Amino acid sequence: MKLSGRGESVLIALGGNQGDRLAQLQGGVRAVHALEGVEVLAGSSVFETEFIGPGRQPDFLNACLEARCEVAPEQLLTALQAIEEQAGRCPDTHLQPRPLDLDILLFGERVVHTRRLTVPHPRMRERAFVLMPLAEIAGTRKFPDSGETVAEACARIEGRGQEIRRFSGRLG
Ligand code: ADP
Ligand code: MG
Repeated sequence: MKLSGRGESVLIALGGNQGDRLAQLQGGVRAVHALEGVEVLAGSSVFETEFIGPGRQPDFLNACLEARCEVAPEQLLTALQAIEEQAGRCPDTHLQPRPLDLDILLFGERVVHTRRLTVPHPRMRERAFVLMPLAEIAGTRKFPDSGETVAEACARIEGRGQEIRRFSGRLG
């Protein structure tokens, strides 16, 4: 049996800027949904965003999904990293172009600080390319550490200069 009926609501960010970007995100959603103990419930629109960081890189596609998850946070991270590698991402390519990046944004009401995993995701509150798609599917969701909602965080950073366009393709 894939799911026992329990589980927590997990929000996951998808991104990629190599290869067929939309197909990579769509494949990522299917691979997450296929995980034992995980069921995808909702997906956001897809956004096209310019790279922010050192140097130049191709534009990213970004989106978010909500899933019901019965596996532990670190176990989910391990599974997401395996999906990233299957999509062709080499390990330790932080800030490099990548076909598929999967980040755990929020995991139920949990606050996690381990060597491998920080939840809420440490950089998500500064990233419009995360908060904009996330607000579509989880605007009223509160950060467990601050009590701020996703919609409030999104409004706070809106217009900070990063170029974000709606992309015509859909996640699934
Ligand atoms: P980014 O997603 O910010 O571009 P990376 O994907 O390169 O960065 O970061 C990879 C590292 O981040 C992984 O080794 C992983 O252990 C760590 N990490 C910490 N917290 C999280 C999280 N919430 N979701 C995904 N990875 C995380
Ligand atoms: Mg990542």
